[in-house]
Parts: sequence; structure tokens; C-alpha cells
Amino acid sequence: MAPRPKYRRILLKLSGEALTGEGGYGLDADVVERITDDTLAVHRQGVEIALVVGGGNIFRGLAGVATGIERASADYMGMLATVINALALQSVLERKDADTRVLSAIPMAAVSEPYIRRRALRHLEKGRIVIFAAGTGNPYFSTDTAAALRASEMGCDAILKGTQVDGVYSADPKTVKDAERFDRLSYHEVLSRDLKVMDQAAVALARENSIPILVFSLHNAGALADVVAGRGRYTVISEQGESGG
Ligand code: UDP
Repeated sequence: MAPRPKYRRILLKLSGEALTGEGGYGLDADVVERITDDTLAVHRQGVEIALVVGGGNIFRGLAGVATGIERASADYMGMLATVINALALQSVLERKDADTRVLSAIPMAAVSEPYIRRRALRHLEKGRIVIFAAGTGNPYFSTDTAAALRASEMGCDAILKGTQVDGVYSADPKTVKDAERFDRLSYHEVLSRDLKVMDQAAVALARENSIPILVFSLHNAGALADVVAGRGRYTVISEQGESGG
């Protein structure tokens, strides 16, 4: 039997990269199938789910700047990329019979609802999976910060950050062989050691609102349900950290 979930309402942050396969660009059908299956398995256990999706698999603001596009415009382009991913996730989730809503921080009435906090809360209460698109709606921010912002606004019990590896390391474990892996970290440790897991604004906002960040690997099917049940391999970032138990 599936273990009982520890959380009532979660914010799941999926980077754009998480939706790609080997190629590193666009959407990979198998990956999207697996992630949506995992999401729905948790949803069926009665957990309310808000999703924030990134856009890095399609367009990143800084890449645009490198090609001569002004920063703010390039960032808006990045935010539009997140809307593409949000619509893809919505479509696949609905094919699997989930009730979903896309709420965009940049109003786009033909394909989404505008972001209205109280409406988003109502959707969650009704058991709909809410997909937040277009990040914060502001240039110079990231979808990680959007995740911390929406988690705060929605009163989420945890931010689940799905990544390519099974937690937070002292350096990129794909390139640094003896990188240290942490089971627990404090917000302060993440910020002061400048650990590359979420940007500093996101970690600071999660800290201010006492929302734990759970970092886990999206590569293992079923990992999300395990993390939500407090099992499996992941790093918890909270006020306590390594020494606090
Ligand atoms: N972006 C932005 N404001 C936001 C969120 C995103 O300007 O609130 C832009 C930014 O240019 C970023 C791009 O959208 O590079 C894609 O988002 P992000 O890089 O966070 O996606 P991820 O890395 O999670 O795929």
C-alpha cells in the first residue's frame, strides 16, 4: 500500500530541462508521460498540487541577450516559453482524466486564465491541478522564484524541486567526482555557500515563509510519491540544516 502523504498541498517545480530527453531541447514524450504519471499518483492520494514549470528547454532570457536581444524582452520570451510547457503538461494531464487549470502571470486569455490568487486557491480546494505559467510575470526573475512566490501565496506545505540528481551537492556531481551530497541543509547554508539548487531570491522567499524545499531526482519513476511520503532520497532545505536534526 502507498504510504500516507506528509503534505496536504505542495508546489512542484519542474524546470524546462526536466521535460527534455537526450537532445536537451523541446519536449520528450516519454519523459512527459512519466512525470505526469508520477504527479497524478500523488494527486490521487489526495494531495493538492500546484505546478510551476520553467522554460529553459525552449528559451532562456540570458541566451537571448547573447544574441543581441534586450534583457527585458528576452526574459518575456522566456516567460512565453513556460506557457508552451504549461499547455503541454495540461494537455497530457487532462488526457489522463485530471482536472487542470493553467493560470498565466502574463494574461493570455485564449489559452489560460489570468493569475488571480483567490481563484487559484479555489481551484486547488476543488482538487484541480493548477499549472502556473509565465513565471512571476516580471523580467529579471526566474521560475524558481515564481515557485517560491506561488508556494507562499498558496500556503503550500512544501516546495518540491525535481532535478537531474537526487539532492543537493557541494558541486555538480556530474562533473565533480567527489562532490558531497547533503541530506539536510539550512536555508542559511544554501545561501552562504551559494549552492546551485535554486536562485537566492527563491531560497530567501521560502525561508521568509518557512516553506521547506525538497530536492529530488525526476529520473526515478515513483520518486515524487516517495518524497511526499517522507521516504526515499532527497535533500531537505529548512531552518534546521545539518546540525539541527
Ligand atoms: N523568466 C522571467 N521571469 C520569471 C520567470 C522566468 O523573466 O519570473 C524568464 C527568464 O528569461 C528565464 C526564462 O523565463 O530564463 C525561463 O525560465 P527559467 O530559466 O526559470 O526556466 P527553467 O530553468 O526552470 O527551465
